[in-house]
Amino acid sequence: MIVVLKSNVDAARENQLIDWLKNMGLGVHVSVGEYQTVLGLIGDTSKVDTDLISSLDIVESVKRVSETFKCVNRKFHPEDTVVSIGDVKIGGGNFCLIAGPCSVETEEQIISVAKAVKAAGASLMRGGAFKPRTSPYDFQGLKDRGLDLLRIARKETGLPIVTEIMSITDLPLFEDIDVLQVGARNMQNFDLLKELGQTRKPILLKRGLANTLKELLMSAEYIMANGNENVILCERGIRTYSDYLRNTLDLSAVPMLHELSHLPVIVDPSHATGIARMVPPMALAATAAGADGLIIEVHNDPMHALCDGPQSLTPEEYAALVPKILSVREAIR
Ligand code: PEP
Ligand code: MN
Repeated sequence: MIVVLKSNVDAARENQLIDWLKNMGLGVHVSVGEYQTVLGLIGDTSKVDTDLISSLDIVESVKRVSETFKCVNRKFHPEDTVVSIGDVKIGGGNFCLIAGPCSVETEEQIISVAKAVKAAGASLMRGGAFKPRTSPYDFQGLKDRGLDLLRIARKETGLPIVTEIMSITDLPLFEDIDVLQVGARNMQNFDLLKELGQTRKPILLKRGLANTLKELLMSAEYIMANGNENVILCERGIRTYSDYLRNTLDLSAVPMLHELSHLPVIVDPSHATGIARMVPPMALAATAAGADGLIIEVHNDPMHALCDGPQSLTPEEYAALVPKILSVREAIR
């Protein structure tokens, strides 16, 4: 249920109403917008007398929210959420480019790619240290050593780090990591989501291989319901009948997620297509669809990458793509 307050209401009256609702055993999420304050009620609202609340002179309207996702719901928080990572902002009109290799391999590799993507215009670097691989015989990532190399690259370039966490037990290793990625395979690892909800770290939550938008939003709800509001949603392609592509990029997810939720939505055209030459057109299409950012795999030597080489752009290809992305972004403003 949401309670929209009239503008410029007396703070004491507002707090009185909030306390009264909390005493009924409800959680109250307060969203202060430019023009109005919205109280989002969480819990069993079946016994709440909507007529009584509507009759209060500080209340503009009361609506029941039928969706099972509450905190992530745009009805609870009408204005776009802006997630900040240091000086970098994502959402609410702030567009963000994230780029780097699938996996951290060596110090030289991660530093050179980080420098190259920064020079091309990226404001965050990606690189996997803990890798979820389909085969247990494939490269599993450099793990804590990989995180150390990311820290060195951050020191060299100033770019904040985006990297995947696969297990709750690894959380202490990620203390100074800027953005924690929850990969597609872990989108419904509810224990991990709950634990990340206890932190205040920005979480990049990728849509699962075969998950609906509602399931993605419910996973984001796990993080937000535990208190962490810094969630970025990511469409990275889903399993369909696609034969020549790794996945199918569901671009209509972008405007739909924006309609349903206030959270920023970014797109990963690299995992969505699996083919480097498909990445530029889909990156431009995702930008045109209104994505708040793009996460793109870039490798200094794709032919010899330990993971996801076929979908990785070279630094030169990435540098050629960025101005096109920015002009599409400009065109839709
Ligand atoms: C990745 O970002 O390298 C990755 C494994 O992504 P996803 O979880 O989307 O497959
Ligand atoms: Mn990858």
